[in-house]
Amino acid sequence: MRMEDLTTAAAAPFEAEQLADLATLGLRWDGPVVRQSDRAAAYRDALAELDRRGLTYGCTCSRREVREAAAAPHGELPEGAYPGTCLRLSPAERRRREREGRRPAIRLRAGGARVEAVDRRLGTFGAIVDDLVLARADGVAAYHLAVVVDDAAAGVTQVVRGDDLWSSTPRQVLLQQLLGLPAVEYLHVPLVLGPDGSRLSKRHGAVTLADRLRVGATPEGVLGWFAESLGWAGPATELDAAGLLEVFDPDALPSGPTIWGAPRRMETTD
Ligand SMILES: [Zn+2]
Repeated sequence: MRMEDLTTAAAAPFEAEQLADLATLGLRWDGPVVRQSDRAAAYRDALAELDRRGLTYGCTCSRREVREAAAAPHGELPEGAYPGTCLRLSPAERRRREREGRRPAIRLRAGGARVEAVDRRLGTFGAIVDDLVLARADGVAAYHLAVVVDDAAAGVTQVVRGDDLWSSTPRQVLLQQLLGLPAVEYLHVPLVLGPDGSRLSKRHGAVTLADRLRVGATPEGVLGWFAESLGWAGPATELDAAGLLEVFDPDALPSGPTIWGAPRRMETTD
């Protein structure tokens, strides 16, 4: 069990609620909870290893400078990619930034590497990896570096996660390769979205487990809805975690997102 709390200030109250929710749904996990906020030393070691091999550089671009640089077209790099501005600063610009005392973020010198990621459902996706940030100017490790280091440390071999992360998977694959870490198997699954197609949030109504239980839902009903939303069970099915595992079929996932509160659901539950 890993809490990805690198950038969330005051994550603790949410952490307790999330762990309680998972336990209520019947999930169990091995060993103590790992917190990314406790693992700065491991990320520093990985960064030092890349640095030793000349694979990093400091970037003193402001947010606005990164945005403007990324908006300009630059050859083969994907849209929105950082084009390596800080590798090519004029001596005058470099001096100006030094005088301003800007603290550098650390970027990967990706060198335009083309990397393929493989997903069990989505197939193969090749992309040119840009010079992604490995550590922010305040020294906090970036997410992509942290997950790659953490997965290897925990012996993770399979990663199942939302398909909103699929497009950045080549970045993580490249970091695995550069750090000599084992490759993992990926399965990216469709998200559950609100009726307006946006991510679920408070304004979509009762969407946390605690909210659902307050309005009379049961953990078994919630797991049944998971199975139904994936086409693995009919409406109003009740399942415990072991029952969900029995119908679990990673090769029979829907191709698009599930819409929370869509009309079809209302007809079947009212
Ligand atoms: Zn820069």
